[in-house]
Amino acid sequence: MLPQPKPDVFNPIRIDEKLCICCNLCDWICPGDVIYKEEDNKETMPVIAYPDECWYCGLCDSTCPTDAITIIFPKPMIDNQTDVVRLLGKVT
Ligand code: SF4
Ligand code: SF4
Repeated sequence: MLPQPKPDVFNPIRIDEKLCICCNLCDWICPGDVIYKEEDNKETMPVIAYPDECWYCGLCDSTCPTDAITIIFPKPMIDNQTDVVRLLGKVT
């Protein structure tokens, strides 16, 4: 049975069914194993099996040959004003 995403979990990975050619690349490239695609079945779409484990690394998006993937960044992430240099303690 295919893994099914939990309905109450935000899914940041949207796949356009009209563009997807079921090539498996997004499943193969995802470092977090977030995306599951039945390897030998060209008829089934990828499933975002573990959306809450996405790292927002963008590899699936940049690897998809048909540009079928869109990543939705949560607002708190977009609005984040963290001063990374200060956080890392490199301010003299
Ligand atoms: S953004 Fe990265 S971690 Fe998230 S689904 Fe895509 S490849 Fe996986
Ligand atoms: S990489 Fe793109 S075209 Fe290939 S299975 Fe994933 S979403 Fe579909």
